[in-house]
Amino acid sequence: MTTGPSPESMNQPTAGGESAQGNVSPAKGGPLSGPLGVVISVALLSVAGYLGYRTFINPPPEPTDSAPVWYVCSETGKAFEHIRQMGEMEPVYSPLSKKNTGYRAEKCFWTKDGKIKTTPTYVLLNELIGKPGPTLCPDCGRLVEPHNKRPSKTQSGEIVIPNADSTEVKTTSPQPTTQPAD
Ligand SMILES: [Zn+2]
Repeated sequence: MTTGPSPESMNQPTAGGESAQGNVSPAKGGPLSGPLGVVISVALLSVAGYLGYRTFINPPPEPTDSAPVWYVCSETGKAFEHIRQMGEMEPVYSPLSKKNTGYRAEKCFWTKDGKIKTTPTYVLLNELIGKPGPTLCPDCGRLVEPHNKRPSKTQSGEIVIPNADSTEVKTTSPQPTTQPAD
């Protein structure tokens, strides 16, 4: 069509052939830009897929807690203790419903009147069962969040909530809401 140098004309071979032998003439393109790069990419994808598959079928050994953890049965709403197994997926088997309806419980340590409970309320988080909206403690009505913070009492009897050392940073204030949602 229009005139102009074609890309090929930029790197013309040196005339004279044999005289270029001593010069460095790097191959065009990097080592990964050719078919080799494609091969490597495919290989990486295969490895990733294989590892995922292998993890699913035969999970690698991981430390199990021998201590029971509290779970809540989504069908009965009751809490039960459960010892986690290797590679276990939630929901776990619930002895209450005799089905796999057990979800790890979040603990709420508040009483209705803002005191600390010695035995926490075990709460099933909405997000674990795909329910929208915040989880409210069925006992005290306060908001329950993942890794719910345990309040503690100072020497003077003041109740304090430890500042989060978790990775999650909440923009909202963690102080409990005392008003019922109605
Ligand atoms: Zn509560």
